[in-house]
Amino acid sequence: MTNKHYAIIGGGINGLAVARQILLDFPDAKVTVFEKENAVAQHQSSHNSGVVHAGLYYEPGGLKARLCRRGAELVQQFCAENDVAYDECGKVVVALSKEEESRLDTIFQKSLANQVPDVRMLNASEIQDVEPNCIGTKALYSPRTAIVSYGAIACKIAEEIKLKGGEIVLGQKVVRLTEKNNKVSIHFENNEHYSTVFDYVVACAGLQSDRLAAHSGDIETPKIVPFFGQYYVIDEQFKSHVKGLIYPVPDPKYPFLGVHFTKRIDGQMTIGPNAFISFGRENYSGKKFNISDIYDFLTYKGFWKFSSKNMPAAMRELRTVLSQTNFVAEAAKYVPSLANVSVTPATRGIRAQAMESDGSLVDDFVIRKQGNITHIRNAPSPGATSSLAIAEYIVREVMTHD
Ligand SMILES: Cc1cc2nc3c(=O)[nH]c(=O)nc-3n(C[C@H](O)[C@H](O)[C@H](O)COP(=O)(O)OP(=O)(O)OC[C@H]3O[C@@H](n4cnc5c(N)ncnc54)[C@H](O)[C@@H]3O)c2cc1C
Repeated sequence: MTNKHYAIIGGGINGLAVARQILLDFPDAKVTVFEKENAVAQHQSSHNSGVVHAGLYYEPGGLKARLCRRGAELVQQFCAENDVAYDECGKVVVALSKEEESRLDTIFQKSLANQVPDVRMLNASEIQDVEPNCIGTKALYSPRTAIVSYGAIACKIAEEIKLKGGEIVLGQKVVRLTEKNNKVSIHFENNEHYSTVFDYVVACAGLQSDRLAAHSGDIETPKIVPFFGQYYVIDEQFKSHVKGLIYPVPDPKYPFLGVHFTKRIDGQMTIGPNAFISFGRENYSGKKFNISDIYDFLTYKGFWKFSSKNMPAAMRELRTVLSQTNFVAEAAKYVPSLANVSVTPATRGIRAQAMESDGSLVDDFVIRKQGNITHIRNAPSPGATSSLAIAEYIVREVMTHD
């Protein structure tokens, strides 16, 4: 694998992490990253909660559980070595009822199986030792959960790639990959054809990953269905009401973690994100529609099956989409002193969530190798926490596998 020429499609945190890992493991390799935007990390990697997840929720033995734990260690180490801000602010997952308590116990058992460090259960009064303004009947406390800026980490990784001799080509949208005699050609939207052919290509195209994979001969499903998440910044005067991260117990039928209080590495306190279908894969303002993105999910039978099974959760989320007051009320169930806090809309994030044709959301990371091309087909949260471990896994296990 040394002395080879590698191309990475996508300059988000995963694509950049893979490029860096190749240069670390094979210093003589040539590495070129192709990114369609004019800067790196313009999509999910800079529109997220910024949480370094400790690995509480994930199915023991799955890729998420393994790569999140390893990734969290690697992110901490990377931040320390590169002078990137890292705040181990801790997190509580709070139950409000007996029914939620039993689901919380299941998460606690998973976190123990995943060997998450220092996790413990808190009773109602102990919750206030950690978060003085938070109420709940029971909570799971993860003191090692941290916050960072993944956009800042991605930019540092990009610098390292260039220092190690790698190339990052911006403003080049790849539409298709073709492979012949173990060499891969890259076809661009503007009909330019990169003169070099590559030995190996890793596609890390996030919200566009299903399209690039299908146009390159990989299987059509799972398809990406975009779910946006709105954040609100709370009034500066009230941000001290929350010390770190306060999360609800997730609804097992809906895979997103629920509206939570998130301290940001820049000191702001946000509430969010909710989760609702996005009328564009890259539509951050929420004001425009992308006809081809809408057509894609409306004509996908998986979307209709998902919708019919998830109506109650979708209606709950819709309430928070239609009304800022409902949004704040959802969060204030955990911190009642913030019931009337004023909030300002912050940017949205849009999740690249893979969905099977039977309507089920793909929970684990999906990474598929086809000849000399590897596609990341599903890397939702904790995909940023796991990015440096996903890179190790792709370079050391997936690409070397015939
Ligand atoms: C609302 C929200 C909250 C989240 N919170 C967290 C969190 O707290 N912690 C956590 O660990 N994870 C979180 N995540 C998940 C995390 O952000 C993602 O898993 C991670 O950023 C995925 O990185 P990526 O590089 O795979 O994708 P992206 O960051 O989306 O990058 C893909 C890149 O590929 C480029 N690209 C796409 N198609 C092409 C093409 N055809 N040619 C060239 N370039 C192309 C895009 O322009 C983009 O730059 C969150 C995600 C969202 C949306």
